[in-house]
Amino acid sequence: MCREDAIVAESDYEILDPRFGSLIKTTARVEHLFEGCRWAEGPAWFAAGRYLVWSDIPNDRMMRWDETSGVTSVFRYPAGYTNGHTVDREGRLVSCEHGGRRVTRTEHDGSITVIADNYQGKRLNSPNDVVVKSDGSIWFTDPAYGIDSDYEGHKGENEIGGCYVFRVDPDSGEIEAVITDLVRPNGLAFSPDESLLYVVDTGEQRPKPMYVYDVDNEGGLSNQRLFAKCTAGVFDGFRCDTEGRIWTSAGDGVHCYHPDGTLLGKVLVPEVVANVEWGGAKRNRLFMCGTTSLYSVLLPVNGASRPQ
Ligand code: MG
Repeated sequence: MCREDAIVAESDYEILDPRFGSLIKTTARVEHLFEGCRWAEGPAWFAAGRYLVWSDIPNDRMMRWDETSGVTSVFRYPAGYTNGHTVDREGRLVSCEHGGRRVTRTEHDGSITVIADNYQGKRLNSPNDVVVKSDGSIWFTDPAYGIDSDYEGHKGENEIGGCYVFRVDPDSGEIEAVITDLVRPNGLAFSPDESLLYVVDTGEQRPKPMYVYDVDNEGGLSNQRLFAKCTAGVFDGFRCDTEGRIWTSAGDGVHCYHPDGTLLGKVLVPEVVANVEWGGAKRNRLFMCGTTSLYSVLLPVNGASRPQ
């Protein structure tokens, strides 16, 4: 279903730095593509099929929006209360599942492979967001939102005793805790050259911080520092463009940060945005999961190529 007035606002942007002016087209409007979710999250673009898959977490389903027809349908139900997704370098869907407390991969034949479901024999909390590095390693965050209550998963115990960021080795499949000192690690993404890893912490601290780490050639992290603090609502999921700018979800839409940490401007969305994804034939269509709805906007910048 799509509102008749697909154009949602008179002014869809807020320019906070002159550099943002070249990153948008003020005539390009925010489009409202679908309404009817309880909480939209985890968009993932399938370039070959020209469709977007995302999660509707409390409804325990995954949705699919087809660019060729504009039609939205249910992709998977029940879906294990999936949250974040990504598409790996082989074009396979990698999913965080609150319900099964695991990360899975949907293979080309449709079968599902479990990537990670425990750490040192203890069940994961509820994997939230995931990225795949160019070496094939799978990095994901594991806060406890999916086990805090039955709203977005199944109420349960935090067996690990913390909320970590994990890396799954592409060869051995071993799971390693790479960040253990955040409260509730949430969205994460590498810079385009993979020299940096950005991670949001949605724990108690306000405003919510996004941290950045240096990444060495072996995938080791060092030099944690604060990158930005959210100025409206909370950061959740985010992606980089080809120039390393961050396009992150926030309470009033999507905030764009220069790699130097400057908030350049905003794409305004009339709902809280939880996550974003680049798509379209040229990866310059930004899809935004906004609580009940799926939105998109066409931009004169391109999303960083896979992996993201
Ligand atoms: Mg998230």
